[in-house]
Amino acid sequence: MSQNFRRLCMNRNNTNYPGFIKLYKTGKLARRVKDIYQLMKNCQLCPRRCGVNRLKGELGYCRAGIEPEVSSFHSHFGEEPPISGWSGSGTVFFTHCNLRCVFCQNYPISQLGYGNKISIEQLASIMLNLQKRGCHNINLVTPTHFTPQIVAALNIAAGKGLTIPLVYNCGGYESIQTLKLLEGIVDIYMPDIKYGGKKEAEKYSNAPDYFEVAKMAVKEMHRQVGDLQISPDGIAKRGLLIRHLILPNNLARSERILKFIKDEVSPNSYISIMSQYFPAYKAVQIPELNRKITKKEYQKVIGLAQKLSLEKGWRQELTEEA
Ligand code: SF4
Repeated sequence: MSQNFRRLCMNRNNTNYPGFIKLYKTGKLARRVKDIYQLMKNCQLCPRRCGVNRLKGELGYCRAGIEPEVSSFHSHFGEEPPISGWSGSGTVFFTHCNLRCVFCQNYPISQLGYGNKISIEQLASIMLNLQKRGCHNINLVTPTHFTPQIVAALNIAAGKGLTIPLVYNCGGYESIQTLKLLEGIVDIYMPDIKYGGKKEAEKYSNAPDYFEVAKMAVKEMHRQVGDLQISPDGIAKRGLLIRHLILPNNLARSERILKFIKDEVSPNSYISIMSQYFPAYKAVQIPELNRKITKKEYQKVIGLAQKLSLEKGWRQELTEEA
């Protein structure tokens, strides 16, 4: 870790940071745009592999079309401290989702389609606008189904002076093929790991293979960027930050997730353990999901992380329990 700090300090004026700058200068970013757009022809962007031709306007499971759709963008101060920093994280909330969880707190955006279609040029302008506001990064919220459009916009924004890193803030249900095309483009991966069990992933997100897919995806992300590196002034520069939301009745199977992170990703992983669950959207009609978590449930997960010596990261306080 200390070696990584040293390297970042030395590279403070490195004109090849963030990673996409080097790819832009060599023309490789433009080639990636072409490659990644190909995945929409017979859509294979995510593990759903719908096979629809998004380039011709066909819609798959996520309901996303050819144009990017954005519900809002702003400087966000509520993310983890090294992501928000003192100037905010430049969040861009994308409409639609490839998971569509029954308890989604953002369901009007993810599932009811709230948002506006914009052009690639407008998306590039949003990125530059967020940088102008002083944001530390461009935080792409639920980006998976719009990855080609994001990379195309980045190619324009990089040419117009974008110099802050991308945060890929995703649900963890990601395809390795797509992630490989993001290598060198994304500096900070911030995936959820939502479920450690098949039954729950199937019932609440229609994705029985979620944990197996997320495990491979998170390992690939870690291979690309490593453990989270934070600059001496407290800002995330590069690396992996994993989020885990505790669900009531141990429905997330948190222990399996924490053990996986320790044993198969890195014992130095930064983990954000979140307690903010409340029954939203369809969860109010599902008895086992229709309550907040209890103090006992919260403490159990925090205790497990301690027992596994997973001490890096953040623990969201439990302000109100069931
Ligand atoms: S991105 Fe959407 S259309 Fe493409 S495979 Fe995933 S869910 Fe299907």
